[in-house]
Amino acid sequence: MNVQNKKIAIIGGGPGGLTLARLLQQGGCNIKVYERDLDKNARVQGGNLDLHEESGLAALKKADLLDAFYANYLPDAGKLRLMDSDGKIYLDDHTETHIAEHRPEIDRGPLRKILLESLKDNTVVWDSHFVSMHKEKDGWELLFKNGTQCYADIVIGADGANSKIRPYLSDGKAIYSGVTIIEGNIDDASQNVPYIFKLLKGGKIFAFGNGQSIILSTKGDGSVAFYTGEVVDENWVRDSNIDFKNLTEVKQWFNIHFSEWNAVYHELFETDKVSIVPRPLYHYEASQQWQTQDNFTIIGDAAHVMPPYAGEGVNMAMLDALELSEAMLNGKNLKLAFENFERKMLERASAITALTMMNTVQLHKQNGLQFMLDMFNDFSK
Ligand SMILES: Cc1cc2nc3c(=O)[nH]c(=O)nc-3n(C[C@H](O)[C@H](O)[C@H](O)COP(=O)(O)OP(=O)(O)OC[C@H]3O[C@@H](n4cnc5c(N)ncnc54)[C@H](O)[C@@H]3O)c2cc1C
Repeated sequence: MNVQNKKIAIIGGGPGGLTLARLLQQGGCNIKVYERDLDKNARVQGGNLDLHEESGLAALKKADLLDAFYANYLPDAGKLRLMDSDGKIYLDDHTETHIAEHRPEIDRGPLRKILLESLKDNTVVWDSHFVSMHKEKDGWELLFKNGTQCYADIVIGADGANSKIRPYLSDGKAIYSGVTIIEGNIDDASQNVPYIFKLLKGGKIFAFGNGQSIILSTKGDGSVAFYTGEVVDENWVRDSNIDFKNLTEVKQWFNIHFSEWNAVYHELFETDKVSIVPRPLYHYEASQQWQTQDNFTIIGDAAHVMPPYAGEGVNMAMLDALELSEAMLNGKNLKLAFENFERKMLERASAITALTMMNTVQLHKQNGLQFMLDMFNDFSK
């Protein structure tokens, strides 16, 4: 099999898609990444990510990007304070280490920049919002929202949760996890949420109580990212009639829903410098399968989105990229390479989805804090 003489299209320039692009380019492949963001300056929101030795870091190592990673990582960002809804600290990495070692953290923006800079010029075609595709010759004709079209011999979908390309491979529908998060980002946090900023001490806070959660992290650009989590109906975002663009309404919701929580946490919604995105969290059936195709597969969240309560999503996306690139570059037959890759990916995702869903459910029960404490105590044994 010679994939080097094929036109390969990757849909989505997140960590999964860009890592795959880099690894395949190293193998001499002809790659385009079609990304819906308008340009490389689009701001990547969300908390920072801890990369794991056997997955995210292994992919960066293979991509020769470990030095760039360590030049940009945040040494203190992994330091955790585990707290309750009253503001009491139960475990504190600033005084002793509890979390598993060697899980260095990086902001999403710098990670994307490192990957982008590793690619050949014009690899990423910005403003390419994938809409549909149909079979053409031995490959696929892709159509984008801005009206452009292009042909590719091989297509890899890496367009994340709510993937538009996944339905061409699988009709397995995403299942609501029971938990919806309200994600927030506060710029210039030392000014806008000074108490929380001090409490974070450059690291992160996991707080649990009243069947709810708040996860906070300090980012390298001086902002703080956070998400609240609680058990609500799947359509709560729509049915609550809250306008999540209206901060007064969002604050009212927090004051009522998180009324049991200490004033410390209410600082998050007292600033008008917070941007908010509500997200119901989904996952796929742990036993999901599909029929392998000749010249099309999917990776990362497009294949196996899951809630963030095991911290594995980005690591899985990057490990998928590593394994898929090896399968494509070394396999004798593309369909067989995809079949072996997909089997391994789905087995892994099945185990991690089960673990993630256990955490998601347990952490949003009344004794969620104790569940987390027990988990850290098990780690440190
Ligand atoms: C609140 C929150 C916290 C998280 N925390 C962690 C954590 O601590 N650790 C961890 O490992 N994981 C975490 N995750 C999960 C992690 O963010 C994802 O698993 C990871 O980003 C998946 O990478 P990906 O490349 O598959 O998809 P994405 O990162 O979603 O990238 C998809 C890319 O495709 C583009 N795109 C989307 N649709 C289209 C389209 N139609 N056409 C073209 N381009 C498109 C998007 O703009 C994006 O650039 C968290 C997720 C959330 C929501």
